[in-house]
Amino acid sequence: MASHHCWRVIAFTLIELLVVIGIIAILAAILLPALKNARAKGVQLSCLNQLKQIGVGSLEYVSDHSGYWPVKTSPPTGPGAWNDFWFTKLSCYMGVELGASPTDLELQKIQKRFVCPSQAGTWSPDWWKICYAYNYYFIYTGEYEKRIGILRRGEKPSQIMYAMDGIVSGHHYILPSLTTIDKKDSICFHQGSANILFFDIHATSMTFFELPTDAHTAFWLGE
Ligand SMILES: [Zn+2]
Repeated sequence: MASHHCWRVIAFTLIELLVVIGIIAILAAILLPALKNARAKGVQLSCLNQLKQIGVGSLEYVSDHSGYWPVKTSPPTGPGAWNDFWFTKLSCYMGVELGASPTDLELQKIQKRFVCPSQAGTWSPDWWKICYAYNYYFIYTGEYEKRIGILRRGEKPSQIMYAMDGIVSGHHYILPSLTTIDKKDSICFHQGSANILFFDIHATSMTFFELPTDAHTAFWLGE
């Protein structure tokens, strides 16, 4: 009799345990996506903040260089001279002092500031590979003088894109022909959205489908 009673108590406890496990499973199913979402939102905000820091450093660079923004002159496919990249030109304006011949390790310090936090840990240690891309038409092109004129006249700086999430094929620059649907995942690191820094250094998020596909828009050419 005593052993039968004991068995019933254990059986009841097992049912209770299963109920508790069931409740935990339901709570986890409800809460985990919300937590994942909150984490992704946090990473997105930290990326926006990082872009803003690039903007602040760039404005200082511009005021020291008679209104010129940092221009990239070396090809994007290899290391080239360390001081020939838009992001290394900004290094001393972003708290990274690089000597006359910095080591790869020193160059990686500035590289980190140009890698979206969503890509941290997976990003290439090659110091010249970053994951923010600048507006091709304003930094790389032969029409640089014409484009810079638009900024100097203060036309639409809040609408013209300076730099954004999105490295496609290792390029440091981006233009509409690189924003095709097959490249979506290389551009939109934040749940289908890319973070964008404008020339007035405000930063915001845009979905892939909000990115203008026509170069002749304020976003790309200031037109
Ligand atoms: Zn990002």
